[in-house]
Amino acid sequence: MVNRAGAAALEALFPQHCALCGLRAPGPHPLCAGCAADLPRNDPCCSRCALPLPRGGAACGRCQGGPPPFARSVAPWLYEECLAHLIGRWKYAGERRLTPLLAQLWLAAAPATEPVDALVPVPLHWRRRLQRGFNQSEALARQLLAHGVQARLAPRLLRRRRATAPQQGLDAARRQANLRGAFAVTEPCEDLRLAVVDDVMTTGTTAAAAARALLAAGAARVDIWCLARTAAPGQ
Ligand SMILES: [Zn+2]
Ligand SMILES: [Zn+2]
Repeated sequence: MVNRAGAAALEALFPQHCALCGLRAPGPHPLCAGCAADLPRNDPCCSRCALPLPRGGAACGRCQGGPPPFARSVAPWLYEECLAHLIGRWKYAGERRLTPLLAQLWLAAAPATEPVDALVPVPLHWRRRLQRGFNQSEALARQLLAHGVQARLAPRLLRRRRATAPQQGLDAARRQANLRGAFAVTEPCEDLRLAVVDDVMTTGTTAAAAARALLAAGAARVDIWCLARTAAPGQ
């Protein structure tokens, strides 16, 4: 057991180090200025689904062909090696000290957002939550609110009806089938402006399924707030 004085002594002996390069990180977060500057921003990107694009100001071909149910996606970082490493340690290795850092990264790079009434974390099925020990999307939403985002947290508004197979490795049709009816809305959300919070947006299938359920329950508008966006498949 390390008491509080002991923890302070340990921190003095082993000051905070960058989670990416291991060098001393003098700020409040475990990321040095050099590594922070190397993280690639997702800009320009699709105004609707945040897909990285060569030019900004428009929606991607897929959104122009069939607009998604959500109004806008904010995903200010590209999901590449360094960010994937940070998010992996946070999510799968239980390094919850990275939550404030990731929230700060979102706040530092997100463009101005529409006002929202509530943040709705993408829920985990209870079994996965038990395995992981926490819901990373809910932890991220809490940190955003702690750092000045004006809204309330609606952590139980969306519920997983059933465990779904991991989306990785499934093609578009299978991803959609996997999530059909996966989310239930636990309260009416008439006229609410909602932001669904998730860690990474890959194809947007999860975001679309969540948005569709919330809109069917009466939400006026649903935006998606994610840390990072993957490039289009095959890029
Ligand atoms: Zn570093
Ligand atoms: Zn798009």
